[in-house]
Amino acid sequence: MTRFIFITGGVVSSLGKGLMAASLAALLQARGYRVRIRKFDPYLNVDPGTMSPYQHGEVYVTDDGAETDLDLGHYERFTGVPSRQSDNITSGRIYQTIIAKERRGDYLGATVQVIPHVTDAIKEFARADVDGLDFVLCEIGGTVGDIESLPFMEAIRQLRNDLGRANTVSVHLTLVPYIAAAGELKTKPTQHSVRDLTSLGIQPDVLVCRSERPLPDSDRAKIALFCNVPKEAVIPALDAKSIYAVPLQYHREGLDSAVLNAFGIEPGPSPDLRRWADIMDRVDNPEGEVTVGVIGKYTGLLDAYKSLHEALVHGGMANRVKVNIRWIEGELFEQPNSDVAAQLEPCHAILVPGGFGERGTEGMIESVRFARERKVPYFGICLGMQMACIEGARNTAGLSGASTTEFGPTNEPVVGMITEWMSHEGLQQREAGGDLGGTMRLGAYPAHLSGNSHVSTIYGGSEISERHRHRYEVNVHYREALERGGLAFSGMSPDGQLPEIVERPDHPWFVGVQFHPELKSKPFDPHPLFASFIAAALRQSRLV
Ligand code: GLN
Repeated sequence: MTRFIFITGGVVSSLGKGLMAASLAALLQARGYRVRIRKFDPYLNVDPGTMSPYQHGEVYVTDDGAETDLDLGHYERFTGVPSRQSDNITSGRIYQTIIAKERRGDYLGATVQVIPHVTDAIKEFARADVDGLDFVLCEIGGTVGDIESLPFMEAIRQLRNDLGRANTVSVHLTLVPYIAAAGELKTKPTQHSVRDLTSLGIQPDVLVCRSERPLPDSDRAKIALFCNVPKEAVIPALDAKSIYAVPLQYHREGLDSAVLNAFGIEPGPSPDLRRWADIMDRVDNPEGEVTVGVIGKYTGLLDAYKSLHEALVHGGMANRVKVNIRWIEGELFEQPNSDVAAQLEPCHAILVPGGFGERGTEGMIESVRFARERKVPYFGICLGMQMACIEGARNTAGLSGASTTEFGPTNEPVVGMITEWMSHEGLQQREAGGDLGGTMRLGAYPAHLSGNSHVSTIYGGSEISERHRHRYEVNVHYREALERGGLAFSGMSPDGQLPEIVERPDHPWFVGVQFHPELKSKPFDPHPLFASFIAAALRQSRLV
């Protein structure tokens, strides 16, 4: 029997609902349960794929090619369970499906309404694809009281009846603010938020109270009394110094036992949390530090590079070092008197991450040149690989006009729009002026690595599968010219048509990948490319 945990938030957003869901799932998993986490997003975009990274942070891509909310990245990093298309739904996707059905005449003349049609679609999504699972955690985006989230709340209320009260638990995350003038924590916002939730027919079973000061026992008792939950089910949640400390902290505060108790399950012995203790030991006791310069274009909002940031931290954990990241806007290097060397010399390694559009890319190309010439470790991811190829074409292969068709017409399309490729679903075809949503090469694709390449040593094998999200590809027709310039094509798609990895054999560490390895890195299983890159940064730090 699969049980459902519904997670809602109140008072304000950004309280760390996604991290709480991920941590609770990790704790249940450590107790031997099979878990899955889902995100319900109330906005009207069909998926976050078309949203600016400044609006919504990173778009997290799953193996099966879904463009999803960045919370799914936390879920996967904390549980190791690969997310799927069926783990993220938006109001936009629900309405899209319902309206398509209505146009086909599938509703046989009925009036199509929020209740029951939208709520039924939400319930169907929650219950699909749950075979073999003990717990499905459903996180509802937004905060209680938002107009957009009402159909989701109503669907939860109904599901609690459909599935039986014993099989569902409602966890509500709130804020207990500290009011400096009064010198006190205030429980009133939590009381109001729970009142809003109960007015929608949902009585929370567990309350998680975020606060910046320890919650006194008397406040815990007061919240329990006013909100109609047992005192042990009021879980204090203080700010943590690292996101990886959160599962241990929630366990100490009794979150996993409170949830199991709410289901009527005897929690039993403490779970085995050695994995998390080891991670925190690496965070707390680094044996050195390195600085990585990231030359990107959304550096003003770090959520835009969430998985990248975490993967670099994991690379640090693998080497027991602290990774300092120096975020640099590519545009900075395009200004007339910008001193690239002065900015990059303090960095022990340089990384150009994924991105879209031309802004800042000349600065990225300058950074690649710096890394190549100075023999500083370089890691190019997606756009960063494309920029490494353009830099190589311009400065080592004599193709001064090299560019990508993404930035406009060019005579040397070293990177070009891909209009045809094979996916799991067969031949994919695109037109230059087609829709932007959902039309990239998305999801997991295999690559074959050449026998004696650096990357085959790093991966410890020659067959890999990594996740993609891009519309343009390095043009295989330039392979020979680029290889003459020292850039080896060491990873290719199985049909040999799409360059997946380039590297410079005459450089200490220079790798460009067309995919996003950061999406698969985990704190307990750092991605080999990031572990190797940080090891190279560490060697570099000992040289300078
Ligand atoms: N803009 C490039 C493309 O679409 C790179 C995309 C990316 O870095 N994710 O191919």
